[in-house]
Amino acid sequence: MERFADELDLAQYQTDLLTTQAIAAIRQQMTTNAGRDDCIDCGEPIPLARLRQVPGATRCTGCQHHHEGQLNRRHGH
Ligand SMILES: [Zn+2]
Repeated sequence: MERFADELDLAQYQTDLLTTQAIAAIRQQMTTNAGRDDCIDCGEPIPLARLRQVPGATRCTGCQHHHEGQLNRRHGH
């Protein structure tokens, strides 16, 4: 009877461990995706079409235009 309980505990322990690892993996994936695919200015996801056009883009199209407009204005002075 005691042996059965030990095995049950072990199974429970392994399940907990797997769940914890799975959650950690999913969290890491979400964090990585958020850092890569979201606009750094407005936080909206950058459209896939734009990422294909500009690999490693950190801003969505609108924010990039806004950003470049500010740069150009500062440059003009
Ligand atoms: Zn944006």
